[in-house]
Amino acid sequence: MPIAQNLLSIKSTLPDQVILVAVSKTKPISDLMQAYDAGQRIFGENKIQEMAEKWQAMPKDIHWQMIGHVQTNKVKFMAPFVNLIHGVDSLKLLQEIDKQAKKNKRIIDCLLQIHIAEEETKFGLNEEELIEILSGENLSEMKNIRITGLMGMATFTDNENQVKKEFAHLKTIFNNLQTIKTTNCNLEILSMGMSGDYRLAIDCGSTMVRIGSSIFGERN
Ligand SMILES: *Cc1c(COP(=O)(O)O)cnc(C)c1O
Repeated sequence: MPIAQNLLSIKSTLPDQVILVAVSKTKPISDLMQAYDAGQRIFGENKIQEMAEKWQAMPKDIHWQMIGHVQTNKVKFMAPFVNLIHGVDSLKLLQEIDKQAKKNKRIIDCLLQIHIAEEETKFGLNEEELIEILSGENLSEMKNIRITGLMGMATFTDNENQVKKEFAHLKTIFNNLQTIKTTNCNLEILSMGMSGDYRLAIDCGSTMVRIGSSIFGERN
């Protein structure tokens, strides 16, 4: 199916409160423009260089979101324009984002990535590390970042019960942190769900899904 049609059919099934991030990594600008022309304005990329090139080439009303693992030394390349960084998993990274946002006179929204999958390889904080960041005194000093939610990736498996359990676990963590409301921390976004598991994620309380291959087709 053409990209616009894929996009619109997925959108028509999403509840109103769920935000769709079109994951366009590895895809050419002509593909992204098909989604743009069909009304999509939020795109997710996992490489900073690629995202910056697309940002330069494409209309300026697009919200660019970084969904991949971020290396501290590359934050500066996206700080002028990035709309939301999903994969924040250390205090050091948060501090660098704050510093680069300040240089650009911006406030950058961040999601803390939580490790919920069984696989060792997936990035993310455990609950202890999460609490450490959220309760640290460093946080209130970071005037140029805002922690607006949590992000997680489930184990890559056909076992729906396992995936559900992992999403439900993240939703519980998210719920338990709703009491925190400070100027730069207010958890409103729960980013979970990809092409293979976004329906399950929504059932478990996701408010933001990151969908790539179901819109743009398989990646090489
Ligand atoms: C690639 C990617 C997605 C999208 O994956 P699809 O299965 O193509 O929908 C979502 N989230 C992250 C973090 C990704 O890296």
